[in-house]
Amino acid sequence: MASPLSASAFLDALRDEGLTVVEVGDWRHHNRNHKGPWGPVHGVMIHHTATEGAARTVELCRKGYTGLPGPLCHGVITKDGTVHLVGHGRANHAGLGDDDVLRAVIAEKALPHDNEANTDGNRHFYGFECENLGDGQDPWPPAQLAAMEKAAAALCRRHGWTERSVIGHLEWQPGKVDPRGFTMAWLRERIRDRLK
Ligand SMILES: [Zn+2]
Repeated sequence: MASPLSASAFLDALRDEGLTVVEVGDWRHHNRNHKGPWGPVHGVMIHHTATEGAARTVELCRKGYTGLPGPLCHGVITKDGTVHLVGHGRANHAGLGDDDVLRAVIAEKALPHDNEANTDGNRHFYGFECENLGDGQDPWPPAQLAAMEKAAAALCRRHGWTERSVIGHLEWQPGKVDPRGFTMAWLRERIRDRLK
């Protein structure tokens, strides 16, 4: 059981991990808390945006679009490795996912295959949207991958979680493919090494 970090603690955690962080608009109060609960938090979810262009990607994740209002995550990690904070609180990123997966994340055990969409993920996960077309061709620059590793590790460190609390959207919600271009097992290994 973990209470979500305050906006200031979230920002500090990222900066303490050595990240370059940009605060976008009124991110501290931009959320979907009026639509449902936020917390307890149990982990960190990684996504790809299926977009290109840093400015456009950040704006989309902040505002959302018709049918899916923003914020669409907490932090947007652009290709240069900058983390752009767009929201704090409940965000439209995880959607409904598998309660068996959530139980495994809480217990920090190996994940079962996600085959149900019965549990509110926006309540329980921090989310990072990472700028990538998600076509399996678009490269993931080393600076961006390093930032993803650091951002996830920063939150694990603050909450006392291991790398097993970091999952991909594709591990949560049936039908999702993000992030594509590396495996979550590989990213978790990097996070594990960073947390040592
Ligand atoms: Zn996603």
